[in-house]
Amino acid sequence: MTTSMLGDSALTHLECGFCGATFDPDQLLNLCPKCGKPLLARYDLGQAARTLTKASLQERPATLWRYQEVLPVRRQEARLSLGEGWTPLLHTERLGQSIGCAGTWIKDESVNPTGSFKARGLALAVSRAYELGAQELAIPSAGNAAGAMCAYAALAALPAHVFMPADVATTFRVECQMLGAQVTLVDGLITDAGAKVQEGVAQHGWFSVSTLREPYRLEGKKTMGYELAEQLGWSLPDVILYPTGGGTGLIGMWKAFQEMEEMGLIGPERPRMVSVQSSGCAPIVRAFHEGTEHAEPWQNAQTVASGLRVPAAVGDFLILRALRESNGTAVAVPDEEILHYAQVMGRQTGIFPAPEGAACLAAQVKLLEEGWIQPDEQVVIFNTGSGLKYAHLWA
Ligand SMILES: *Cc1c(COP(=O)(O)O)cnc(C)c1O
Repeated sequence: MTTSMLGDSALTHLECGFCGATFDPDQLLNLCPKCGKPLLARYDLGQAARTLTKASLQERPATLWRYQEVLPVRRQEARLSLGEGWTPLLHTERLGQSIGCAGTWIKDESVNPTGSFKARGLALAVSRAYELGAQELAIPSAGNAAGAMCAYAALAALPAHVFMPADVATTFRVECQMLGAQVTLVDGLITDAGAKVQEGVAQHGWFSVSTLREPYRLEGKKTMGYELAEQLGWSLPDVILYPTGGGTGLIGMWKAFQEMEEMGLIGPERPRMVSVQSSGCAPIVRAFHEGTEHAEPWQNAQTVASGLRVPAAVGDFLILRALRESNGTAVAVPDEEILHYAQVMGRQTGIFPAPEGAACLAAQVKLLEEGWIQPDEQVVIFNTGSGLKYAHLWA
């Protein structure tokens, strides 16, 4: 492939999603230095649109780097790739018929490197941190984010520090160790692991790639929005169900739709966005139905879906904004249903989903019963990871 088909990154600045302050993007930053909220990457979309076209995309690699004009990494050699993104969007006929919604599609993120869509976010966060000169990386995680960070850190030969709650499943811990990271088990919850990362940041100058605490994981996850549109022939479904922990993917896709419209790739139509959580940890669902701008932290968060065990999301206001602007909703499903619908999905589609993906199917069935989703609508559910790392749940 000739490089002339690919344009440069059109990144122009970082903008705070809350207070609107802007910053030079070519420096290592975490949260907004003014107000402590998440920073969003902004681009010259007019410039991006000159080379990022429907036609040019047909010649590009089958990874998320096909959208490089609207991604933040500037230098080719800093674009770390293990083949992330461009995952299949599968029309599930048998499953769709059995639940009474023929237009049911699964965006199957389980085929990403390290078995989950966390590869998208961490490919971008690690690439950009590497480009900007970070020396060591750190993350608190009880699940897939850690493995994904370790994989890209290994590729870039950057030392990686992972802090996990001591009761983390063996698969998640061993994966990080096999990828060469230093793993520390922390007594307590993910918030305690987060505090340890902050200590390392202060003492050793590590760069934290904790979710939404740096601007670029969101950019990796937004590519799911670009892919959906491209795979559906530059249209979007009626409804998207997204299993929401920190909400990075949902916020990212909503951002992607706006960017695509500004570049003339899609029109103003939008899907109704649905946040799916477990009833054991549903701060966004509660805040959505109470009509608040921010979500109160959830006490005693418990769920088998480790990616959904996020009692307080720094981007809560961005998730709630996207749900409301899209005329969407938020749904909590109990863990028993999550475990049950994983089996339903497995048997009827051939995909062994992560519990987070199964939660979306449980929520879709509930919304069909309530009449919020119509049987003739086109619905995309995200299977955000593979069930394999969670096999202990059904053993
Ligand atoms: C992290 C994770 C989620 C939640 O993703 P957010 O973008 O943080 O909301 C969902 N599913 C799986 C499998 C995950 O690892």
